[in-house]
Amino acid sequence: MEKYDNLEKIGEGTYGKVYKATDKATGRLVALKKMHLEIGDQGIPPTTLREISLLKMLYMSIYVVHLLSVELTEKTSNSKPVLFLVFEHLDTDLKKYMDSRRCSPVSKSLSPSRIQSFLYQLCMGVFHCHRHGVLHRDLKPQNLLLDQRRGILKIADFGLGRALIFPPKSYTPGVVTLCYRALEILLGSTHYSFGVDMWSVGCIFGVSDSSFLSFRLNIISLNHAADAVIFIPRICGTPTEEVRPGVTSLRDWHAYPQWKPRNLGLAAPSLEPDGVDLLSKMLKYNPAERTSAKEALDHPYFRSLDKSQF
Ligand code: AMP
Repeated sequence: MEKYDNLEKIGEGTYGKVYKATDKATGRLVALKKMHLEIGDQGIPPTTLREISLLKMLYMSIYVVHLLSVELTEKTSNSKPVLFLVFEHLDTDLKKYMDSRRCSPVSKSLSPSRIQSFLYQLCMGVFHCHRHGVLHRDLKPQNLLLDQRRGILKIADFGLGRALIFPPKSYTPGVVTLCYRALEILLGSTHYSFGVDMWSVGCIFGVSDSSFLSFRLNIISLNHAADAVIFIPRICGTPTEEVRPGVTSLRDWHAYPQWKPRNLGLAAPSLEPDGVDLLSKMLKYNPAERTSAKEALDHPYFRSLDKSQF
């Protein structure tokens, strides 16, 4: 760690703290993610190595945060070894960015063009991951890092921590946010696929404008699976066997109140019709009908976007 200067805590994920630091040799700002390791007789767990190699494999996209290096500290008699993942540093994350704008007396929400641009980049990043067979499973605004000056969005936190120490010892309130998690995961399905990430993208799209009021309703308290599972059904209606075959047989299914599907356009009044259509395709209960990242990129909602910048 003597290679780095000016360590300052900037965040906390489920599995460790994140520090901003300066690389003494290059003067470059980096983000250090500190992870305590339970190293057994076999060395670093294979899951850890696999996750790191995934991040290295995804390096080719600018919409995925770049892992610069991995540093392992020595095990001492009174301390466990610590693994530091060294990432490129970005100014902020989407949650902090949205919160700061909501508190600002001048601009309360993201402009429609900003939302369109961030959503496009998010779909580009997700498409890149899916093309390489990688599921993120935990997309949420906290895991989307922003370069504010260049208006670039990058996906971070590839469930790396989950592979390192499982199960997590405790959840820090506010760190684990379940409301972006796909309904099939919350209902206990063990067979899920790329659609889970597209569901999360839909939820992120839904909360990105402060006028999408229904989507933001109670979002802070949605850290419990029981609350999170009814978050979208309260807007889109209780899932039925007709729209999502097999839903009532999923492990954690309960007899939920019968919410009627509401018009998404009414829940998101400031969203133009193409945006409402894309949102509804991302929030399809049946994963087989949910739009893919590739299809989303070709959706008419992005027609007005200047794609040459990407
Ligand atoms: P994570 O454990 O990856 O979810 O990170 C927790 C928080 O630390 C994020 O929500 C960000 O606010 C911050 N963070 C993580 N990685 C970076 C990075 N590369 N640059 C700047 N901030 C980061």
